Amino acid sequence: MLYQRSSQLFQEAKKYIPGGVNSPVRAFSAVGGDPIFIKEAKGAYIYDEDGREYIDYINSWGPMILGHAHQPVIDAIIEKTKKGTSFGTPTEIETQIAKLATTMVPNIDQIRMVNSGTEACMSAVRLARGFTGKDKIIKFAGCYHGHSDSFLIQAGSGAVTFGTPNSPGVTKGTAKDTLLAQFNNLLSVEELIAANKNEIACIILEPVAGNMGCIPPQEDFLEGLRELCNEHDILLIFDEVMTGFRQAEGGAQQRLNVNADIVAFGKVIGGGLPVGAFAARKEIMDYLAPIGPVYQAGTLSGNPLAMAAGLAMLTELHDHPEIFKSIDEKTIYLKEGLDKVLTKNGVAFTINQIGSMISVHFSETPVVDFESAALGNNEYFKKFFHGMLEEGIYIAPSAFETWFISEALSYTDLDKTIAAADKITAAW
Ligand SMILES: *Cc1c(COP(=O)(O)O)cnc(C)c1O
Repeated sequence: MLYQRSSQLFQEAKKYIPGGVNSPVRAFSAVGGDPIFIKEAKGAYIYDEDGREYIDYINSWGPMILGHAHQPVIDAIIEKTKKGTSFGTPTEIETQIAKLATTMVPNIDQIRMVNSGTEACMSAVRLARGFTGKDKIIKFAGCYHGHSDSFLIQAGSGAVTFGTPNSPGVTKGTAKDTLLAQFNNLLSVEELIAANKNEIACIILEPVAGNMGCIPPQEDFLEGLRELCNEHDILLIFDEVMTGFRQAEGGAQQRLNVNADIVAFGKVIGGGLPVGAFAARKEIMDYLAPIGPVYQAGTLSGNPLAMAAGLAMLTELHDHPEIFKSIDEKTIYLKEGLDKVLTKNGVAFTINQIGSMISVHFSETPVVDFESAALGNNEYFKKFFHGMLEEGIYIAPSAFETWFISEALSYTDLDKTIAAADKITAAW
């Protein structure tokens, strides 16, 4: 038994935690089998409870862009911890990270810290509604913005994987204010705007989708949304929880050269601690309490340990902008290597990649939206996932997730990964 201790721990966990996990995608439901329990991690590697080592392509779902237990981040947390872990008062470090983040990211003057990406997106939408005085929002099928009610109308990622696109518990009243468009399809957005004249507060999307596998925006899609928003007094919200501080120092806005009105962050901004944030130009942020009428708050928001981790992470990225080029090159190398072996082995596949996000879809057709992502062969994905796991390669346990490349990965790690993919698919 390769995963004996993990399986025992999972049995025990299931007694006390629903499904044995604190976030559904961890349960391996989409790929079958018991999840592996991780004991520790360093650099590009994670180690399970049975003592096995894996090259990690999840990186805590994105935050570990510099690899696990990155020393400056760890040191910052340890130092901060010695001075107390939470005061519920303003602290200087909150201003330091806010100043740095607004320097790194275009179009934002101010930023408000929260505790998760879910909170960030939820609050961004409330702010957009408060600012515009309108109720309805447009989201895209397959884009995930966390688990708050307005977004679980037909979500990607976990919700799709678990076959509950409309979660019970979300009221009809809430659902009716969320309109669904198709990713990479401007016409679907134009139709919704035409049918709901002067009622739409915001359009929210992942500028690079990462929750239906990785799906880059097609040419002119984001630009088209920007124009529609300008024309109809709609705020454009970029959910950069995945892409922020990853696709570039300034996130997808910078990489793709499209300006959003409100930007949501999570993952990298917390350096592995629970942090989310949302940001905009001052005119919009002025609508927030305590100076504005839109209420939003958090007992542990801006927590000193979380800010120390986030500040250390952002400082590393800001001081070493060459990291972004380096992870992009590693990801392209991986893409080219996988492309070569899967082609050689006669497997039907599509690889989507932009920057340090990449995903392999076992699909003959291009994957450009949720519908085409769903055409992938999940039986092949399951075989691929478990095969890779046995070879010591840890990829996301769902075909609807992107892989995240970290700077800690070496070219030797990438070569091992490509060789493992070759070995597994050679027999198909
Ligand atoms: C992960 C994610 C979220 C939710 O963040 P949590 O911290 O899990 O609440 C929101 N949007 C996107 C794009 C994400 O990838």
